[in-house]
Amino acid sequence: MDLSDWRLLGQEQYLTGVALFHRNYSDRKTSTDHDHCEFCGTKFSDSIPGCLTKGYTTMDDYRWICDNCFSDFKDDFKWAVDSQIDQTSK
Ligand SMILES: [Zn+2]
Repeated sequence: MDLSDWRLLGQEQYLTGVALFHRNYSDRKTSTDHDHCEFCGTKFSDSIPGCLTKGYTTMDDYRWICDNCFSDFKDDFKWAVDSQIDQTSK
């Protein structure tokens, strides 16, 4: 892992090896108005224009990761993605 990447701020302590689900932000269980990508800070929202509306999230929908950061860090963080969720969302 390249720890000099500006996006890495200790996320490996709580995001290594977790299960991620590719979800629409509007399907979240939390009541927050918006969230930020855990790595780059890109905003997720289904009510604010210009924000991401889907991405990778933890089981509880509290942590969101954009597609870019997912592909950049998926090998280092060893995420397990639930492919069944992808199939049912089509
Ligand atoms: Zn990101």
